[in-house]
Amino acid sequence: MIDQEMKQAVLDGFAKEFGDNEGVKCYFAPGRVNLIGEHTDYNGGHVFPCALTIGTYAAARKRTDRVMRFVSLNFDGSRRETSLDDLVPNDPKAGWTNYPKGVVWAFEKRGMKLETGFDMVIIGNIPNGSGLSSSASLEVLTGFAVRDMYGFDVTNQDLALIGQDAENNFNGCNCGIMDQFASAMGKKDNAIFLDTADLSFDYAPIHLDGMKIVVTNTNKKHKLTDSQYNARRSACEHALSQMQTVCDIKGLGDLSIEEFEAHKDAITDDDERVKARHAVYENQRTLDAVAALKAGDLEKFGQLMNASHVSLRDDYDVTGIELDTLAEEAWKVDGVIGSRMTGGGFGGCTVSIVKDEAIDDFKEKVGKAYKDKIGYDCTFYIVSIGDGPRVIE
Ligand code: ADP
Ligand code: MG
Repeated sequence: MIDQEMKQAVLDGFAKEFGDNEGVKCYFAPGRVNLIGEHTDYNGGHVFPCALTIGTYAAARKRTDRVMRFVSLNFDGSRRETSLDDLVPNDPKAGWTNYPKGVVWAFEKRGMKLETGFDMVIIGNIPNGSGLSSSASLEVLTGFAVRDMYGFDVTNQDLALIGQDAENNFNGCNCGIMDQFASAMGKKDNAIFLDTADLSFDYAPIHLDGMKIVVTNTNKKHKLTDSQYNARRSACEHALSQMQTVCDIKGLGDLSIEEFEAHKDAITDDDERVKARHAVYENQRTLDAVAALKAGDLEKFGQLMNASHVSLRDDYDVTGIELDTLAEEAWKVDGVIGSRMTGGGFGGCTVSIVKDEAIDDFKEKVGKAYKDKIGYDCTFYIVSIGDGPRVIE
């Protein structure tokens, strides 16, 4: 139903912006929420995200010249026109279209040249910049549409790598592979247990009988996500280079807790040692959480979610008062299985697993405590786990 409404919106938008919508196709790619395994994906560790039923929709059609035109129905004044001969990274004038342009650039870099441009109108129903990866959904959406329109021979996993390349090297955010992978490889009612060291993965069914996944948005406006994110990544890379002088590892995710504790003094900077500790312990928590889930021990899963938040707060230092308030207030509510920040941090959202009968209480108590302390409202979304990118027929 939502799919059809969104399809109609982008088709109408396309006709309005570009004259008609003859021969236009409609596409979708999901956002994602990560259940556990945060800031481990660029350390060769494990993550456990799932694709959502919310995401970004596009209407697109090839052109006969080299022009590309983009419109987002989410923002006024979003229209941008560019050309296949003008794929310059990080052009401030391009604004949001650096994401789709980056994807085209990443295809071309891999030898898949577009002879002609295309027109594309998009609309998303992911809260923007909230840590549910609207950017990855836009990248995977563009990649999926380009593959379909131009007939390129790439897998969904390739689309994830193309999206990450666009985000890293065209948009300047050094994210790991998790977000694009979760969007490109999503499967209804399943989380993806991904080893980012070699991209091996397994689907894990999520049966939350009598519970829901609740995402709570801090609605925090001013974040320094990219610069802080890149700083954390550099700290981990430096810590890794020092650990490699004493251990035969490719990433911090290769270290067991015992190996880390035995050799951690090789990391000379105190702060970098603490950051590396998060990466190693969070990786182990992710392995333990997936094992707990498989054993049907949701309580343990929830405790590991809470411990993940504590580590992101105290060791990795990526939470802030808004996310801490949401998580800490959630922990006090009966019927909350677990709650933690999700995504890069510094704002954005928490993810909580909440029993059905406790949801009203959760919203009321957490919502009130948040408003009292932070001064504005948070927003709650009950989310469902959905499939990866697709054509909307
Ligand atoms: P997140 O990926 O967590 O949602 P980011 O800051 O990484 O947050 O990405 C948000 C950016 O992605 C927006 O600022 C915008 O440039 C782009 N974007 C995502 N969805 C849309 C959309 N529907 N329309 C236009 N731009 C979008
Ligand atoms: Mg993003």
